[in-house]
Amino acid sequence: MYDVVSLGELLIDFTPAGISENGNTLFECNAGGAPANVAAALAKLGKKSAFIGKVGNDQFGLFLMEVLKSLNVDISGLTFSKDVNTTLAFVHLDEKGDRSFNFYRNPGADMMLEEKEVNYNLIKNSKIFHFGSISMTHEPARTATIKSVKYAKENGLLISFDPNLRPPLWKELNDAKKMIQVGLNFADILKISEEELLFLTNMEDLTEGSKMLFEQYNIQLIFITLGVKGCFYRFGSNIGHVSAYDVNAIDTTGAGDAFMGGILYQIIEKEKKLDDYTVDDVEKIIDFANAAGALATTKRGAIPALPSLEEIHELLKNN
Ligand code: ATP
Repeated sequence: MYDVVSLGELLIDFTPAGISENGNTLFECNAGGAPANVAAALAKLGKKSAFIGKVGNDQFGLFLMEVLKSLNVDISGLTFSKDVNTTLAFVHLDEKGDRSFNFYRNPGADMMLEEKEVNYNLIKNSKIFHFGSISMTHEPARTATIKSVKYAKENGLLISFDPNLRPPLWKELNDAKKMIQVGLNFADILKISEEELLFLTNMEDLTEGSKMLFEQYNIQLIFITLGVKGCFYRFGSNIGHVSAYDVNAIDTTGAGDAFMGGILYQIIEKEKKLDDYTVDDVEKIIDFANAAGALATTKRGAIPALPSLEEIHELLKNN
């Protein structure tokens, strides 16, 4: 039995890593892709996770497979494209360590996952299904994603959704909204950023925006991540805020995924229905996830920066 199965993109993040002797930027080749990062985060915390997705049959694809394998993520759901290369993303960092991306995905192997390639047994044998919206930008991965989440829901898995809106990856933003709405219809647990909330609800106000999502989609746990400001949550009619940890952030790539990994880790540990949670449970879960997110910003890259359980407990203990 797997704790979490995650479906979506696994790609290369080229992370800025200093200046060459010629005075040019050097890039480090790191494993990335939000759903893969979440599977890796959970494996690093000692949970059983599996990944479903597609990479190219190239050096980058093999590297990515090895990274997940080395972390003990089950890769029996990973497939290889003979025709399309592994997706690449270049990361750019500002002076606060905040990241932006340039994607090389025209097409990229992650978009090519086919419905018939999905390992449904992995899904059936998991407790939580996690996914995002990037696997819904294009066919055939769009249908593969929707069929998989539907199958997961029908088989009683808890559904976790992090839209991760990346506007340049969509032909039309209206299409992005429609596909994210498809995802929201399945979600029990939702993590979004302030910008994504505004995009989906046209509301800047976190209380009102989250209320709209709760009422429209009946999502039990909504987390709105606020970077250095921590996290706002809605748990039914309860709302609140949990502050972030003060760390020396150098690269925020993957902070959201480390946060999500922290949330799912705690939900697995609790072994109780979301209906039975108290507000105190929810705030404690967020506090743990905030610590995971903060630690992920203190190192370069997404997967290499994912914290261990010991590192998270250390940060929690010292605050
Ligand atoms: P992504 O889009 O990459 O998935 P996100 O925008 O959802 O990320 P962030 O809000 O950047 O995620 O970060 C997630 C969590 O990580 C925050 O809620 C916070 O707890 C923690 N975090 C992020 N940046 C910092 C920071 N600079 N200092 C401390 N904690 C941070």
